[in-house]
Amino acid sequence: MSAPLLGQMMDVPLTVSSLIEHAARHHGSAQIVSRRIEGDIHRYTYRECEVRAKQLAQALMALNVAPGERVGTLAWNGYRHLEAYFGVTGFGAVCHTVNPRLFPEQIAWIVNHADDRYVLFDVTFAALVDALAPQCPNVRGWIALCDESHRPPMRTEVLCYETLLAAQDGNYAWPALDERSASNLCYTSGTTGNPKGALYTHRSSVLHAYGASLPDAMGLSARDAVLPVVPMFHVNAWGIPHAAPLTGAKLVLPGKDLDGKSLYELMEAEGVTASAGVPTVWLGLLAYMRGAGVHFSTLKRTVIGGSACPPAMLRSFEDDYAVQVVHAWGMTEMSPLGTLSRLNWEQSQRPREARQALLEKQGRVIFGVDMKIVGDDGGELPWDGATSGDLHVRGPWVIDRYYRQESGSPLVDGWFPTGDVATIDPDGFLHITDRSKDVIKSGGEWISSIDLENIAVAHPAIAEAACIACAHPRWTERPLIVAVKKPGAAVTRDELLTFFEGKVAKWWLPDDAVFVDELPHTATGKLQKLKLRERFRSYVLPTALAEAACPFDPAQDAAGAGNVASPGEKPLSMRD
Ligand code: ADP
Repeated sequence: MSAPLLGQMMDVPLTVSSLIEHAARHHGSAQIVSRRIEGDIHRYTYRECEVRAKQLAQALMALNVAPGERVGTLAWNGYRHLEAYFGVTGFGAVCHTVNPRLFPEQIAWIVNHADDRYVLFDVTFAALVDALAPQCPNVRGWIALCDESHRPPMRTEVLCYETLLAAQDGNYAWPALDERSASNLCYTSGTTGNPKGALYTHRSSVLHAYGASLPDAMGLSARDAVLPVVPMFHVNAWGIPHAAPLTGAKLVLPGKDLDGKSLYELMEAEGVTASAGVPTVWLGLLAYMRGAGVHFSTLKRTVIGGSACPPAMLRSFEDDYAVQVVHAWGMTEMSPLGTLSRLNWEQSQRPREARQALLEKQGRVIFGVDMKIVGDDGGELPWDGATSGDLHVRGPWVIDRYYRQESGSPLVDGWFPTGDVATIDPDGFLHITDRSKDVIKSGGEWISSIDLENIAVAHPAIAEAACIACAHPRWTERPLIVAVKKPGAAVTRDELLTFFEGKVAKWWLPDDAVFVDELPHTATGKLQKLKLRERFRSYVLPTALAEAACPFDPAQDAAGAGNVASPGEKPLSMRD
């Protein structure tokens, strides 16, 4: 056999720094606008962003951060966080975005597992950092994302970001890194057990940014002003901080205030044309707009994902506000984009109801991702829109293994099992129908059902308990405890619910508890959660009843829905 004829094109590595370099050179005057923690609006260009990212790279190298080492962030969507996206990764270190909504113990676990060398944090999280620092002995320094005049009073000795940058000249050329080296790290708690890290490569991040920008994906262009509501600590804000410089789109970063009014005003002031976020955030925005009787003057489309987009929300956006909704599905393990719901020419000729039915599904894959549904025997199931099976995916921006779990690949025959249960129709549209993984997703954040079950069974009157997700109009899902009492033992629903208080964060507290005589088990004694979820499919939580009366009630907004703090918890921005 003759040797293959190798092509003769340049072997230019796909690096994250090339995204900001491109934007600085070719869209240099395009704007990045941030609503700052300091309370004002900050405005600069991609050109200025790249210089500061280079100063950050120089500063981190001066602090002896080596390529391959991790630098954590605890930050909202803002320009300094964006600089970290490029400054940390540009010289070969790994930008590890940490979710500040987790409990401090979980955050400490994640920072220690990632072995972060430094952590950059918004001053909103000063108290959190004071709580974390003693638990994270390997962190060499904590860097406050502010100037000296905004340095918060803290127990922990911290460095000041602006002072570090001011000491550098930004005269630095991004090195040509191996495109397979790690660029970003993101942990997911959407699995059982400890959080798991997805370690993206430069190559996967750039390919994902290409895919995300495609017309039938987010459809970003230099004509857009894009506002990611989805946090930059949540799977790289779905890739928007990479896709915006790739396309030259204006980038609008909303900071900590994600309530309906704040978002609406920023969108209007900055001429935002495209956005992205979880359903809960849009409920807050729609509620505000309804109450205030206002309309969008520039917003054309928004990507909604992270949880199923309620059909009523999709209709409201399209009918009341002329905004196109792109329903998307993905996961941390997929960088995260997998599928998006966009019609092709033929589908867009179909009657309204048929079009609507397709748009409510999670959509078709972007080029790069492949998917299949499989049955219990692992065999592929038909794409008939009715047969449901376990959803498996593969592609260049899908994980091969979890960070620091070198033994034990999660893959099955080269495919990543998502833990979602789905149908695929003959049009290739994915529809998520259930979840086989045992977790609950409330307002875009994960709640561990196992942790709640362990607390329930620690109650002296409880023999066995299951925690399942129950539908909720505002948070999409909330936890319901289904428990079996010990023979002869007495406990009321309220007593059981009170038992959880102080043992978990407020937003993890179950919304309701019901008692049953027995729970369904398999022959091997495993709890049959799917069966239980089926039984409680139409169960209405008392908290849902209150919301259902007026799902778009603007008064709810003040309670923090827009901040996607979860029920019972103060919005994070108000934490002391
Ligand atoms: P993200 O929230 O960015 O999608 P996560 O890794 O936190 O990433 O969560 C991924 C999981 O969230 C999916 O496996 C699925 O269970 C759920 N999910 C994401 N998008 C949707 C959607 N559009 N509809 C239903 N479930 C979704």
